[in-house]
Amino acid sequence: MTTSLSQFELSPEQREIYEQAFRFARAELAPLLPRMDDEDWYPETLMPMLGAAGYLGITAPPEYGGSGMDLFSAGMVGEAFGYWNANAGFIWGPHENLCLNNILRNGTDEQKRRYLPKLCSGEWVGALALTEPGAGSDALGSMRTAARRDGDHYVLNGRKMFISNGPVADVVLVYAKTEPTLGAKGISAFIVEKGFPGFSVAQKLNKMGWRGAPTGELVFDECRVPARNLVGGENRGVAVVMSGLDIERAFLALSCIGSAQRCLDLSLEYASTRQQFGKPIESFQLVQAMLADMFVELEAARALAYRALMACNDLERGGGGRGDIHKLCAASILKVAEMLLSVTDKAVQIHGGSGFIWETEVNRHYRNAKLATIGGGTSEVRRLIIAEELLRATH
Ligand SMILES: Cc1cc2nc3c(=O)[nH]c(=O)nc-3n(C[C@H](O)[C@H](O)[C@H](O)COP(=O)(O)OP(=O)(O)OC[C@H]3O[C@@H](n4cnc5c(N)ncnc54)[C@H](O)[C@@H]3O)c2cc1C
Repeated sequence: MTTSLSQFELSPEQREIYEQAFRFARAELAPLLPRMDDEDWYPETLMPMLGAAGYLGITAPPEYGGSGMDLFSAGMVGEAFGYWNANAGFIWGPHENLCLNNILRNGTDEQKRRYLPKLCSGEWVGALALTEPGAGSDALGSMRTAARRDGDHYVLNGRKMFISNGPVADVVLVYAKTEPTLGAKGISAFIVEKGFPGFSVAQKLNKMGWRGAPTGELVFDECRVPARNLVGGENRGVAVVMSGLDIERAFLALSCIGSAQRCLDLSLEYASTRQQFGKPIESFQLVQAMLADMFVELEAARALAYRALMACNDLERGGGGRGDIHKLCAASILKVAEMLLSVTDKAVQIHGGSGFIWETEVNRHYRNAKLATIGGGTSEVRRLIIAEELLRATH
């Protein structure tokens, strides 16, 4: 069991969701982690297993095959997965939130009926493609992928980079410019199936962390997408992307909380058993200071992360992308990411030489942690968002 004190803030139902997911992840996900990380192995059976256990489409209504719960409940599951197998959680998270929840929030009835049941069962794997080789922090302004209307289809041309689940995805929510002269206001969102002509995976990338969770570059070469797969209306993609990014930041923060909690628990265990100078290293006050700092940093970040995700529960369709929620979600992931870097660093320090060895669990978390300050908008971009919103409120 975890050493978390802040679980007392959860309702009995939320606590039960967490505890159930925790037991499931310990039994079913933790055993997959060594092979995933050591061999960069993608477990083909993972998504169907998560679907059968009810962990896909947590926020989707039962009529689409989901569980009909709220975003915070999904975040609780992410925290438990982050604790036992963050790498598997990094397959689940982009599928569950970036793709599935986005289609749920912004899709038409027809799109939801076609895509959600198979995404909820795990038969199909989902991804979201915004970033491009030349468009990262300036994803909207520098976007080159374009979509032109051709009868009852759109034709997409361009490349998308660093796409989580990209190499294995059956369904990708893709952003493209439908009206380049309008800049960010000329972006639209499309659902692309892997079998659509002109879609291909250029490469799977070799990452320092999150191994076993495939990330890749996608190519759209005269890719024909039926016009009925347009999501949120033509030139309405900016609302979809901005509100989606806020939710993504708040949602993924909870998986990081789970990872940090695991690192603290592993460090406590190691410090009580590892002996030096004839005593357990937990008796040395410099080691105690690291443990205390890990706890304080984690609990401070957890409080902000819970608050931000709770606030997202009430976000209306198309909401977010500016204002208090935009600031709060950026603040949450900024704080959580910097906490995770610090906590994983201290966990490796407490483990000494063992922590430097690839196969130790704290080492796996340490290698994963860096992405938290980069993915879904870097720490710099998050600071820019927070400052912009603070300053806007004063003018
Ligand atoms: C493993 C992984 C998974 C990912 N998954 C996805 C995914 O599923 N879907 C998707 O669409 N994208 C995904 N991404 C992309 C991710 O969101 C981007 O990497 C991120 O937004 C940063 O873009 P960039 O890498 O192009 O960096 P750049 O934008 O080139 O930034 C480089 C540096 O410059 C800084 N910088 C840039 N602009 C400014 C500025 N105005 N002021 C100050 N500093 C600035 C940045 O903060 C950074 O330090 C993933 C990335 C990785 C590594």
